[in-house]
Amino acid sequence: MSIAKNLLSIKSTLPEHVTLVAVSKTKPVADLMEAYEAGQRIFGENKIQEMAEKWEQMPKDIQWHMIGHVQTNKVKFMAQFVNLIHGVDSLKLLQEINKQAQKNNRVIDCLLQIHIAEEETKFGLDEEELASLLSSNEFQEMKNIRIVGLMGMATFTDNKDQIRKEFTHLKSIFDGLRKDASSKDALQCVSTLSMGMSGDHQLAIECGSTMVRIGSSIFGGR
Ligand SMILES: *Cc1c(COP(=O)(O)O)cnc(C)c1O
Repeated sequence: MSIAKNLLSIKSTLPEHVTLVAVSKTKPVADLMEAYEAGQRIFGENKIQEMAEKWEQMPKDIQWHMIGHVQTNKVKFMAQFVNLIHGVDSLKLLQEINKQAQKNNRVIDCLLQIHIAEEETKFGLDEEELASLLSSNEFQEMKNIRIVGLMGMATFTDNKDQIRKEFTHLKSIFDGLRKDASSKDALQCVSTLSMGMSGDHQLAIECGSTMVRIGSSIFGGR
């Protein structure tokens, strides 16, 4: 099937409240343009330099999401244009995003990445680290970032019960954060739960996802 057909067939299965991020990492601009022509406006990349190159070449009504692990020293290369950073997992990174956003005279939306998988290798905060980040003075003082939700990746496994357990766990942390929001200005905008990829997005939606990051089912294997 073509990229446009893949895209439209996935979109037709998504509930209205679920946002589709088309994950276009490693794919050429021509492939992204095919998705663009079919109506897609949100693209996800996992390398800042690659995202910046595509941003320069492509129409300016595209929203660019950084879904990969972010190195602090590279934030400046996307601060001008990035729409949402999914993988924020430390106060230090958040402070750098805040600083670069300030330089560009804007507020950058961020998701905090939570570690839900069994694998040690996946990035993210645990619940304790999340709580201490949110209650720190440094966090309260940042004016140029906005936490709009959470992101997580399930363990890479065929075991659906395990994936469901991990997604449900993330959803419960998300619900807790939304409750907290009433008491913290910085959390007023928490509404996005980014979970689910090509292999597990249906399960993720059943578990409460509001944003799915889908690459290979749209653009083919990498
Ligand atoms: C690559 C990637 C995806 C998309 O994965 P697919 O299996 O190709 O859909 C989603 N989220 C993150 C963080 C990724 O790095």
